[in-house]
Amino acid sequence: MHPHVEKILLNEQQIQERVKQLGQQITADYQGESILMVGILKGAMIFLADLVRNIEIPTFFDFMAVSSYGAGTVSSGVVRILKDLDKSVEGKHVIIVEDIVDTGLTLQYLLENMKSRGPASLKVCTLLDKPDRRKVDIPIDYNGFRIPDEFVVGYGLDFNERYRNLPYIAVLKPEIYKG
Ligand code: 5GP
Repeated sequence: MHPHVEKILLNEQQIQERVKQLGQQITADYQGESILMVGILKGAMIFLADLVRNIEIPTFFDFMAVSSYGAGTVSSGVVRILKDLDKSVEGKHVIIVEDIVDTGLTLQYLLENMKSRGPASLKVCTLLDKPDRRKVDIPIDYNGFRIPDEFVVGYGLDFNERYRNLPYIAVLKPEIYKG
């Protein structure tokens, strides 16, 4: 275990099993179609990479980067597009792939933004859901795990850009968050 980690919330095996199930569910739901997975950088990168290897229908990727918490751990509610999609989503079956839904503000913005671009359908897939701090009601079609209100890192999620490469989801020691 990494020396900065206080506890592991979800281990590698739990994550891989659940990601496989989500891939199978998406494969079943979109039989006969092709899908466009829109990964939200950078947090969803590792989740998306594992998820698509468990999907057995034609799958395309695109990416968006949006500003979220900056260097802190509290949502500002302000969403800024840092990198937009490469191609049009018009007429496509789009699944937005997120790392975690917390207040829901980021996803609310992304859903509105994506809807205005005219996809054939639009769904949301998130690895983690932290419902305790939700400020807006967001439809989540595919959810990996519900977690308590704790700031987590690993498997793509960072604290000040660190710890994304941990293969598990963990909570850091309090002294690390305080800097
Ligand atoms: P929301 O807009 O739903 O409050 O926040 C969504 C974004 O905030 C996520 O995509 C993620 O980047 C960040 N976030 C929310 N909770 C956590 C957390 O526990 N750990 C990390 N590393 N990021 C989080």
